[in-house]
Amino acid sequence: MAIEKFLAERALNVQESGIRRIFNLAASLKNPINFSIGQPDFDVPAPIKEAAIAAIQAGYNGYTVTQGLPQLREMIADQVARYYPEPPSVLVTSGVSGGLMLSLMATVNSGDEVLFPDPYFVSYPNLVSWFGGKPVPVSLYPDFRLDPKTLQAAITSKTKILILNSPNNPTGVVYDAESMKAICRLADERDLLIISDEIYRDLSFDGPACSPIEFAPHRTILLRGFGKSYGMTGWRMGYLVGPAPLVTQMSNMQQYTFVCAPQPAQHAGIVALDTDMTEYVNAYRRKRQIVEDELRGYFEFTRPSGGFYFFLRAPERHETGTAFVEAAIEKNVLCVPGNVFSRKDSHFRISYAVKDEVLHRGCQILRSLV
Ligand code: PMP
Repeated sequence: MAIEKFLAERALNVQESGIRRIFNLAASLKNPINFSIGQPDFDVPAPIKEAAIAAIQAGYNGYTVTQGLPQLREMIADQVARYYPEPPSVLVTSGVSGGLMLSLMATVNSGDEVLFPDPYFVSYPNLVSWFGGKPVPVSLYPDFRLDPKTLQAAITSKTKILILNSPNNPTGVVYDAESMKAICRLADERDLLIISDEIYRDLSFDGPACSPIEFAPHRTILLRGFGKSYGMTGWRMGYLVGPAPLVTQMSNMQQYTFVCAPQPAQHAGIVALDTDMTEYVNAYRRKRQIVEDELRGYFEFTRPSGGFYFFLRAPERHETGTAFVEAAIEKNVLCVPGNVFSRKDSHFRISYAVKDEVLHRGCQILRSLV
């Protein structure tokens, strides 16, 4: 029996994530230098771990209300309250992925066009397609800065949503306040909903990253997370903030899908929001400098201001990002080809969330491939 016949059309075209493919390859190599990992290399700070353990021991192991623990929601609302005329609606989600899925599931109708800058985070085109929308990547090559005019040119009568991701995965670029303001004005003029994926917000190295909630909170769904900020990617914690009528429906949809974020992780989230992560952020700022010093002059790149990635142009003799990544893997260094995040295949992504010594060694090998 051809069991595949049971697969829905939306499932047939789903490819294994290009990042996961490299991740699996890493498992088959002996001691690779792994620059492909999209998560912090530090462990969860002890007080946050202890809060999760204490919650489990105290029996906080059942469901919470769908929206999330009231204390956690209040703390989240306090962080952004100054941008909203009334206390904002908050929904605690199962990671930012949960927030993204609910946001798009609740807003995309068949045929709606959803714009996002290219390069983009891998989930965006998949999720938009699953809900019947049309993903419209807008190229930000070569410098990956957000030019409002480029976005404007891609808007049609069917455009409904704009997904922004700053600090950006894979480029590390943080959108400046002036461009963000112009984009928000454009969203007002063309009546677009903004979904702002700010999962790397706490890892901003050149001053705080600007958010569309500063200019257009009335038409923004804000997505933030705990995974990258506190090293707890496996705990599946994120949250969304947005206009009440949208959040109410997303919350209703969470009842039938994720139900709630994991309760012990929510208790830990309360402690996390009060934990000072400055020393961790400083460590990543320093690692960014190490990569910059090692690779400047060898590869073309826009200096990243956030996250823990560099998006580097593959040297000419390799022709494509994929060809370069294959050459790097031959030398036991894992990176991710740019076409995983883009319609183009000219670049590759490295994550510098690794030990300094590994960073130096890996960069030397990358240089040897120029
Ligand atoms: N958005 C971006 C831009 C990401 O890089 C990631 C994780 N790599 C996510 C969302 C998903 O985050 P989470 O693990 O919180 O679901």
